[in-house]
Amino acid sequence: MRVLLVEDDPGIVQGLCSNLAVLGWALDVADGIAPAWAALRAEPFDVVLLDLGLADGDGTELLRRVRTSAPDRLPDPRTPVLIMTARDQVSCRIEGLDAGADDYVSKPFDVDELAARMRALRRRVVGRADGVVVHGQLLLDPSALTTTLAGRAVDLSTREFAVLLALVEASPKVLSRPQLEAKLYNWDRALDSNAIEVHIHHVRKKLGENLIRTVRGVGYFVPAAAA
Ligand code: CA
Repeated sequence: MRVLLVEDDPGIVQGLCSNLAVLGWALDVADGIAPAWAALRAEPFDVVLLDLGLADGDGTELLRRVRTSAPDRLPDPRTPVLIMTARDQVSCRIEGLDAGADDYVSKPFDVDELAARMRALRRRVVGRADGVVVHGQLLLDPSALTTTLAGRAVDLSTREFAVLLALVEASPKVLSRPQLEAKLYNWDRALDSNAIEVHIHHVRKKLGENLIRTVRGVGYFVPAAAA
C-alpha cells in the first residue's frame, strides 16, 4: 500500500513512519499543502492521511483540490483520504467530511486502529468486504500478510507480498518495474536496481514459475485467473 502522509508534526511523522513500515507499506511524507499537491500530481497513492492544521494552510483545501481533480489526470479524485484531527476540533472534522474525506481519526490515535481504518478504505476501493484478495487458488490477506495457494500456507516476506499483491490486483495488466517500485518504496529510500527482480525470483520459487510472467523490456503480469 502506497501512503501519502500530509503532516507537519515531526513526532507524529516519526511514529507513523516506523509503525507503518512494519506492515510493508510505503510511506511518503509531505509537511504542507504545496509539497503534498506536487506529490499527488506526480504519482498515484492508495490512501492519503491528512492533517488539517498545516503550516501553509488548511488541509481541507488540499482535500477539495483532490476531489475536484479531473478524472483523467493525477490525482485520482476518488483517492481515499483519512483526516487526522485533534479531539476538540469537532467542527473541523465535520468540515473535513463535508469536503470529501472518507474517514477520520482523532489525535492522539492508536496506530493499529489507524492501520485497520486504512485497510477498510482500501477495501472499499478494491471492493471486497473481507479484504482477502482471491485469484484462482491464490488467497492474499493484506491485513494478516498471509498467502495461501490451494490451501497451503506460503511464507512470503512483506516486500514479496507487496509485489505479488500489486500484480494480482492489476491482473492481467502489465506493471513496469518503475510502477512496481513506486508501490514499494519511498522516494528517499536508496533502491537496489534489481530489487524487484529479486523479489519476483523469490515469489516464483515459492509459488511456481508460471504465476508471474515476464514481458521482456516492458514488465511483469499475473495472467487472469481461470473462471
Ligand atoms: Ca499540524
